[in-house]
Amino acid sequence: MSDCIFCKIIDGSIPSNKVYEDEHVLAFMDVAPLTKGHTLLIPKQHVKDLYEMPEDVARNLYAAAPKIANAIKKAFNPQGLNTINNNGAFAGQSVFHYHLHFIPRYDDSDGLKVRWEAKNGEFTPEQLKAIAEEIKTNLNE
Ligand code: 5GP
Ligand code: ZN
Repeated sequence: MSDCIFCKIIDGSIPSNKVYEDEHVLAFMDVAPLTKGHTLLIPKQHVKDLYEMPEDVARNLYAAAPKIANAIKKAFNPQGLNTINNNGAFAGQSVFHYHLHFIPRYDDSDGLKVRWEAKNGEFTPEQLKAIAEEIKTNLNE
């Protein structure tokens, strides 16, 4: 896609610090890393977000994910690693070519907050069952 910054990184017209590449995916350093080793994994096919991702693209993308995670772990031995994908501006997506963030975690001072307080009792067991049914009836298979 001609006006997509990540497609330009794939075709080399915008420089990046690549860490892994195969026929289907590219992993490179985030230009504004939250922590040391913050890496982005993207499909080479332009896919806007998870909603629009074909199954084969998903398969090839996630096939590379453990490789990237283990390389970061070996390189920097973080205390933990968050993999995060934002879909839609409301969820924090700013580049509309799907990407999976790999954010190694070293301490609490990096500002990333991904935990939430479990709201026990927010939904009754009957409501949970009905919600599951609603999602199930919307699966495309
Ligand atoms: P999002 O906010 O969409 O989840 O994440 C987009 C990420 O892409 C951000 O963390 C941002 O720093 C990174 N980014 C934006 N433009 C570029 C770029 O030109 N090169 C690289 N390497 N990363 C970029
Ligand atoms: Zn793109």
